[in-house]
Amino acid sequence: YAKVSGRNQYQFFSKDMNRKAKSRLELEGRMRRALANQEFVVFYQPKVSADRDAIVGAEALIRWMDPERGMVPPGEFIPVAEESGQIEPIGTWVLRQSCIQNRLWQEAGFNPIKVSVNVSARQFRSPSLLQTVTEVLDSTGLDPKWLELEITESMLMNDVDTAVRKMKALRDLGIGLSIDDFGTGYSSLSYLGRFPITTLKIDRAFIADVDTNPKTAEIARAIIGLSRGLNLEVVAEGAEIAEHIMFLRNNGCDTVQGFYYSRPVPADEFERMMGQRVMAHA
Ligand code: C2E
Ligand code: MG
Ligand code: MG
Ligand code: MG
Repeated sequence: YAKVSGRNQYQFFSKDMNRKAKSRLELEGRMRRALANQEFVVFYQPKVSADRDAIVGAEALIRWMDPERGMVPPGEFIPVAEESGQIEPIGTWVLRQSCIQNRLWQEAGFNPIKVSVNVSARQFRSPSLLQTVTEVLDSTGLDPKWLELEITESMLMNDVDTAVRKMKALRDLGIGLSIDDFGTGYSSLSYLGRFPITTLKIDRAFIADVDTNPKTAEIARAIIGLSRGLNLEVVAEGAEIAEHIMFLRNNGCDTVQGFYYSRPVPADEFERMMGQRVMAHA
């Protein structure tokens, strides 16, 4: 009996794995078609200056409008694209799209803003990243100072020397570099001074309870102080309520991003917000 049930169990797992591999392959195929069929869209979420309530930047966030399943959040397909390697063409598309859009906004006469594009671990490791960014800046004609790449701490810690060299080369193009989700990855305080970054983004886990948890508030204050000390722009992500905004403003945070002002929106909606002089509460 033990043998039989053992074999059944084996068959059960094997079927399950088969099913998973199959649905993974299907997702990869759909993603390949999605890029060709222009099912991906870039949404933009405003970054607002804490003291002036003006839009100073936008984070580009990919969306997949799957004709069958509706909008698929990036959390569901970016990790698969990362594993399969499809993140490279998809990421390059997001970068190009964001630079084209930002250039269009500038030509339309809006106050220039910085657009921030997320770069995944695989893109950052890729030997062609520098060339891709160079080519996209060249072909879109966007002044590099209006582009920023968001990377995460964990991408930098495997091989710090190589990461620093790569970051320097990117900075030499004239673009900004931001550490995203700061405080949630490896704590790399000892390396922070070595990274040629321009911006720290406080993870939204810290922002969520700055108004209710004194310890979290102290940590957020420390990150803001650290950024100022290192001469970095500090951006808070995930600001959802007036209390968050008040805290960030009172504690010297430069830039605020979150549902309080706006969710990520399509380009035309973002443009409408830029047309207003100050950002209103969403
Ligand atoms: P992220 O780079 O940390 O982006 C911020 C995420 O927080 C976005 O989720 C945004 O919608 C969400 N967010 C912003 N404000 C608030 C708020 O006030 N409250 C809450 N609860 N959430 C807020 P989204 O768009 O679902 O993206 C999730 C993650 O997917 C991103 O995290 C990023 O890691 C990845 N991602 C998105 N677009 C791209 C892309 O084009 N390329 C790459 N490589 N990754 C991307
Ligand atoms: Mg980001
Ligand atoms: Mg983030
Ligand atoms: Mg994140």
